[in-house]
Amino acid sequence: MIELDHVGIAVEDAQEVQRLFKDLLSTDVYKTEDVGSQGVRTHFIHAGSAKLELLESLSPDSAVAKFIAKRKEGIHHIAFKVSNIKATWQRVKRLGYTPLNEPTPGADNKQIFFLHPKETHGMLIEFCQKQKLPLQAQKAPFREGHLAYYELGDKDAYPVVVLHGAAGCTQMETELLARRLSTQFRVIALDFAGHGQSDAFESLTFTPDLFVDNVAALFDHLGLSKAHVFGFSLGGFIALSFAQKHPEKVHHLSVHATNLIWDQKLVDLMLTRLDHKQIKERSVELVAYLSEMHGKDNWVLLFERMKDYTLALRGYLTEYSGIEKVPHQTLVSAVDKDDLFTVHSPVFLYDNLPNSSLFILPGQRHALQNVDLDQLVPMVTRHLSRK
Ligand code: ZN
Repeated sequence: MIELDHVGIAVEDAQEVQRLFKDLLSTDVYKTEDVGSQGVRTHFIHAGSAKLELLESLSPDSAVAKFIAKRKEGIHHIAFKVSNIKATWQRVKRLGYTPLNEPTPGADNKQIFFLHPKETHGMLIEFCQKQKLPLQAQKAPFREGHLAYYELGDKDAYPVVVLHGAAGCTQMETELLARRLSTQFRVIALDFAGHGQSDAFESLTFTPDLFVDNVAALFDHLGLSKAHVFGFSLGGFIALSFAQKHPEKVHHLSVHATNLIWDQKLVDLMLTRLDHKQIKERSVELVAYLSEMHGKDNWVLLFERMKDYTLALRGYLTEYSGIEKVPHQTLVSAVDKDDLFTVHSPVFLYDNLPNSSLFILPGQRHALQNVDLDQLVPMVTRHLSRK
């Protein structure tokens, strides 16, 4: 869960250092940003899954200027990305470390705090969390309660319905993609029943049909006669099932990291991932994050119900034969370093859908929130814009 986000490097002349990394990594600065409160100008360079942050002082009394005066140019700090910075801040304090500050806004639209290097073997360590403008959930009626959905982009643009994965929600998984697609489409991102901001619907059993009916209820509520549908993981399966049940409502389909072949091994792996006792033992940050995303008591119930859902998948989808009847143009996208599904999953879809194309992103893992959207979004946009 905690990953390297970037390495901060104090530099005297950022242009010189940019040239160095252009030589070494064949990569350019993709963003430059001043952080007035710190008196620095930051320049970001992609370096695989992490980034380099070149720090150039804007004033002689900035921390970076003092660092260079004392220790010359070089590595200034290393930064780790966390999912809930407040929880991390509290945890390291409980462990006896002294954060240099409370979480505050830093460069790159992040909340950050530092630990003092005297407690961390001379390394200045930063923790950071991406900050987002909060999306406002709207409510669509479903049975005796409500489903949450988020609407982005131009109301007059062509609609794209966006579906998240199992035990996920819009804010956890599909929000960044939805934001990117919203420059060209009217995007409507749904939280399935019991997920995210939607009601729990405790009396209902989770089944594919239930989630398909969720999508139908959203279409009805918005008066959508036809839309593109994008689905991630479980959401991709629901998108395909929705297209089978309501073919006239779907224009193009785009499914990402979706699997229909559930053998015992995969069911077991999924059950381990849904083991809330293990999560509670392992990570206070993850517990805080899941509580925030699904509600304090709801997330445990959600994980339990998704376990039952997963158990019911065993064997059921191996003989699944409906997709050859899905006539819609479908982009099947996947990642080749998926830690949940094998590359057979997208190939199976591609082989059996009558009208599909296949796109595999190299070097990426399952979680959509970590996928390089610079690669995925143009491909999805091009597909959905086809005549
Ligand atoms: Zn930093």
